[in-house]
Amino acid sequence: MLVQQILKSKGDGPVITIKASTSISEAAHVLAERRIGGLIVSEDGTRVEGILSERDIVRSLALRGSVCLEERVGDLMTRNPVCCRKDETTDAVLQKMTNGRFRHMPVTEDGKLVGIITIGDAVKARLEELSMEKDALQGMIMGH
Ligand code: AMP
Repeated sequence: MLVQQILKSKGDGPVITIKASTSISEAAHVLAERRIGGLIVSEDGTRVEGILSERDIVRSLALRGSVCLEERVGDLMTRNPVCCRKDETTDAVLQKMTNGRFRHMPVTEDGKLVGIITIGDAVKARLEELSMEKDALQGMIMGH
C-alpha cells in the first residue's frame, strides 16, 4: 500500500500545524484538544520547519520542570524532520519510523506539506495488506 492510499482513507482534512513562536503550554492544549501526539511546525502551513511531539514536552518537563511551558515550540521541536512522499510504500515508511524511533512523519510534495502519517496509520495499513494476502493465499490453496 502507498502513503497516498493511507492519506485518502484518513480523509481530506487540513494537516494541523503550529507556529514556532507558540508557547509550549498552548501546544500542549492543542495536542490534548485534538487528541494527537505530534504537531508539525510551520509558519505558513506548507513549509515544514520541525515537529513537536508530546515526548519532547514530557522530556523537558522531567528535566527542567514547568518552566519549559513558557518556552516556545521552536525551542523544543526537532528541526528538519524526516519526511516521506505520497508514492512511498507503507513498508518503507515503517522502516524509517522504526530506524529513527519516532511515530510521526510529515508527507511532502515538492517541498510542501500535504499530510501526516502516524505509526498507527502505517501499522493499520500493513495489517490490512497482510490480511488480504492471507485470504488470497488461502483461496489459492483451497482452490477458489
Ligand atoms: P514521536 O515518537 O513521534 O512522538 O517522537 C519521538 C521523538 O522524535 C521526538 O523528539 C520528536 O520530536 C522526534 N520526531 C518525531 N517525528 C520525527 C520525524 N519525522 N523525523 C525526525 N524526528 C522526529
